[in-house]
Amino acid sequence: MNVPGVADGRREFHVMTKPTGAICNLDCSYCFFLSKEELYPGSSFRMSDEVQETYVRQLLEAHPDDAEVVVAFQGGEPTLMGLDFFRRAVELGRRHARPGQRVLHTVQTNATLIDDEWAAFLAAEEFLVGVSIDGPPAMHDAYRVDKGGKPTYERVVRGLHALQRHGVDWNALTTINAANGDHGREVYAFLRDELSATHVQLIPIVERVTDEVLPLVGSGWGARGGAVVAHRQEGDHVTDRSVGPEQYGRFLIDVFEEWARHDVGEVFVPVFDTALAHWLGLHQVGSCVHAETCGDALALEHTGDLYSCDHFVEPAHLLGNIAEGRTLLQLVESPQQRAFGDAKRDTLTDYCRRCDVRFACHGGCPKDRFTTTPDGEPGLHYLCAGYQLFFRHIDEPMQVMASLLRAGRDATGLRSWYATRDARREPTERCTCGGGAPFGDCHGRGGTVGA
Ligand code: SF4
Ligand code: SF4
Repeated sequence: MNVPGVADGRREFHVMTKPTGAICNLDCSYCFFLSKEELYPGSSFRMSDEVQETYVRQLLEAHPDDAEVVVAFQGGEPTLMGLDFFRRAVELGRRHARPGQRVLHTVQTNATLIDDEWAAFLAAEEFLVGVSIDGPPAMHDAYRVDKGGKPTYERVVRGLHALQRHGVDWNALTTINAANGDHGREVYAFLRDELSATHVQLIPIVERVTDEVLPLVGSGWGARGGAVVAHRQEGDHVTDRSVGPEQYGRFLIDVFEEWARHDVGEVFVPVFDTALAHWLGLHQVGSCVHAETCGDALALEHTGDLYSCDHFVEPAHLLGNIAEGRTLLQLVESPQQRAFGDAKRDTLTDYCRRCDVRFACHGGCPKDRFTTTPDGEPGLHYLCAGYQLFFRHIDEPMQVMASLLRAGRDATGLRSWYATRDARREPTERCTCGGGAPFGDCHGRGGTVGA
C-alpha cells in the first residue's frame, strides 16, 4: 500500500474502496478477502449511487485545496460494477474537486474483464491500473483460478494486452507464495521482460490458521471453502500456500540482486523504495508495512462502512459509516483510528526494539505478528527471519544509493558499483545472492534468466 504525498496540517490518508465488497469473478485460493462476504449477509454487494457520491465528496473535502487526491477502487473485483460506475466516479470527481485539487483514479483488478472499451476509458481518464499477476503461467495458475478451478493466466494477459494497446499506466501486483517463492529472479524477469512491467509490487502471502483448521489445510485444498475458514486474523499456523519466512527473504534478495545490477531507475519495486527511504532517514516512507506507525490506509466497504485497514475489515475495526453521522475525515482522525496506527509501534516486542534492522523493518504489519521471539515473547512477525536476511543483505548497496543521493547524484550509480565489483569476481565463486550457485550461473549471468 503506497500512501501518497503529505497534506498541509491534516493527516494524510488513503482509502481503498470496495464497490463490490468481497465479490469477485475469480476464486484465488489464497485470497483473504473472499471470506469477508460473511460480514454482509443478504447484501447486493454493489455500492449505491448515494454512497459513491458521499465517498467522493467527503474524500475531496478532507484534502487541501492543492492536493492530489487518489480515488482508489479495489475488491473483490471492482470491474464487476461495470463501466458506468467508473464513468460516474470520474464525473463526481470533477463535480466535487475544488480549484487546484487534482483527482487521480486507481483501480486494482485481476484484468480478466478488461477489453478495448474498458482500456480506452481507463486510458482517456488516466487511471493507474494495478494488475494482479503472480509470474509465468504455471506459477500464476497455481492459486489464481476461477470459480471452476480453471487457470486464469491467459485471460489476465488478454486484459493486460488491451491496457497496453491503449497506453494505460499499469503496475504489476505479484504475491509471493509457496508456488513462486523459490523463483524470485525468474518471476521478476518474467514481469519485466515478457510483460514489460516497470512497477512491480511484491506482497507476501501469509494465511493464518488455527490448530483446529490446520488439519484441513493441504495443498490443493478447496479454494472457496478454504477461504471462508482460513482468512480470519487468528491462529499461529499458516497454510502451505503461504511463503516461508526465509523463503520470503531469499526471494527479495534474489530480485534485489537482479534489479540493483540492471534496473535501478528503470523498474520500480516499492519494497526497495521504502527501504531506501529508511536508509536516507526519511520519515515519510512508501509502505505502511515498514513504517513506524500506520493507520493511514483505510478500507471503505460498499455500504459506506469504513474500516481501519484493508487487512482488518472485521467488526472490531469498524470505525463507522460515512453516510451516518461522522464524516470520512472525522473517522480517519478518530481516537480509535489513531490508537490502531500507534499500536504498530507500541506493541513491538523487546526483540524488535533491540533489532539492528528495526529502523527499516519496524516489525512488519501487525496482522502477521503471531510468532514468538527466541526468548518466548509473543507478537513477533511471522516473516521476521526473512526480514532480517533481506535488510541485512541490502545494507551496503542501500548505503551506496543513499550516499549517491545525498551527494546530489543519481541512484542509478549503484549499477556501476555492482559492475566494478562483479568484474573482479570469478564465475565459479559463490553468487552474491547467497543462494549457493556459482556466480556465473546465477546473478553473474548478465541479466538473463532461465537460459
Ligand atoms: S527484523 Fe524481526 S526483529 Fe527486526 S524489527 Fe523486523 S520483525 Fe522485529
Ligand atoms: S495493519 Fe498492516 S496493512 Fe494495515 S495499515 Fe497497518 S501495516 Fe498497513
